[in-house]
Amino acid sequence: MLKGIGAAASILLVAALAAAFAGAQPAAAPDWRAAENEILRRYQDLLRLDTTNPPGNEHLVVDYLKQLFDAEGIPAEVLALDPNRSNIVARLKGTGKKRPLLIMGHSDDVTVDASKWTFPPFSATRDGGYVYARGAVDDKDNLTAGLMTLVLLNRLKVPLDRDVIFLAESGEEGSSNFGIGFIAGQHFDRIDAEYCFAEGGGVTRIGGAARFATVQATEKMPRGIELVAHGISGHGSVPLKSNAIVHLSAAVAKIGAWRPEVRFNETTGAYFRGLAAISPPGEARHYSDLLSSDPKVRAAADDWIFENEPQHSSMLRTSVSPNIVAGGFRSNVIPSEAKATLDVRMVPDENPAAFLAAVKRVIDDPAVEARFPSQNAGGRPPTPAARLDTEAFKAIEAVNTRVYNVPTLPTMSTFATDMAQLRAKGMQCYGIGPAVDLEDGPKGFGMHSDQERLLESELYRFVRFNYEVVAELARGR
Ligand SMILES: [Zn+2]
Repeated sequence: MLKGIGAAASILLVAALAAAFAGAQPAAAPDWRAAENEILRRYQDLLRLDTTNPPGNEHLVVDYLKQLFDAEGIPAEVLALDPNRSNIVARLKGTGKKRPLLIMGHSDDVTVDASKWTFPPFSATRDGGYVYARGAVDDKDNLTAGLMTLVLLNRLKVPLDRDVIFLAESGEEGSSNFGIGFIAGQHFDRIDAEYCFAEGGGVTRIGGAARFATVQATEKMPRGIELVAHGISGHGSVPLKSNAIVHLSAAVAKIGAWRPEVRFNETTGAYFRGLAAISPPGEARHYSDLLSSDPKVRAAADDWIFENEPQHSSMLRTSVSPNIVAGGFRSNVIPSEAKATLDVRMVPDENPAAFLAAVKRVIDDPAVEARFPSQNAGGRPPTPAARLDTEAFKAIEAVNTRVYNVPTLPTMSTFATDMAQLRAKGMQCYGIGPAVDLEDGPKGFGMHSDQERLLESELYRFVRFNYEVVAELARGR
């Protein structure tokens, strides 16, 4: 221990001397212990603002942040398509030697069923080392980390080689036209950057210990499909072969039993290879078997993963989940139509038209029409994956080692994020997040759950991680 401190001190001394010779003052590092109170207070403040979307009311967060940035002397601009659903962009100026860096956090929360919550969803109650609230890990954690990073860089007057931009955007949970769609579409110059960081990654803890970090480098494309069965209507006392509900049910059953083919991309290939390398032998075998040249071995691994790790199964393919069934209105009337809605999450290189044709082949029933809805509900463009050989990815890897002492795996999220609109413009975006327990999701403590929570200690560690990644990439040299 002592030896370590001695070495660290001499490195600091060398760094200080080098900086003195270069004529620059070394930037002081934040006092992380002293920052904890403020980090927790701001996190709780944000969690207590009810920005459930719909209706959103994200201006509550924007008002809070505007006051904070004004008090800190950080230039910030409010941009809004709808005044209740505003966005805020703040910017620390750098020398311009490198292109800017953007940190994002969405200000809205997904809907709650307050009656199901142990602690009221907007109370930000502290219990057993955790903070419980809607938004605790989606996305007021990233929001807090981003704003604290900006505030600390500014207070410490860290010289910057590039601008550091912070964006709190509205509408991520299903109405991104007010948030990232609006900003990327009409005010892109305010956020144009070489790199961006947002939600979607994190550190996985198993049995209380951090095991590996994930960085979201690409994401699936939501493209819903509707199935509509058409039949002849009539009196319910006379069953008909053309009954729309019977045809629809058979179609839904076929879709439910179908698993589209496994398709790897650069990100998921690296992820499963990495997972195989760091997992205990029993689990590792399933991941490496996925990449086997023997189709029987691959199929067995795919079956095991579907049974035991549905999240991973979805990462392997375009996924289809029938989530709404509607048809009929009276028990004695045979309806002429019945409809099912499929939640389809396409792998980034999927061809939507070809996939729709495959769905039709699986259903194989001329009475059932399969189509894309007239409106693309997700509103996300298809995007290229972020590169894994960039300075930003390397910085994340290095800071994960330093702060968490874990390896970093690139990953593809099965859900869409606001990074889609920015990757579509060529920005290299990476999803990051705090450490959470792998066991938390299945137990109902994860994002979108009724007991969403985050460990306070992991909030502090995440703020430090976020700050150090940004400092690594932006600090003047
Ligand atoms: Zn989110």
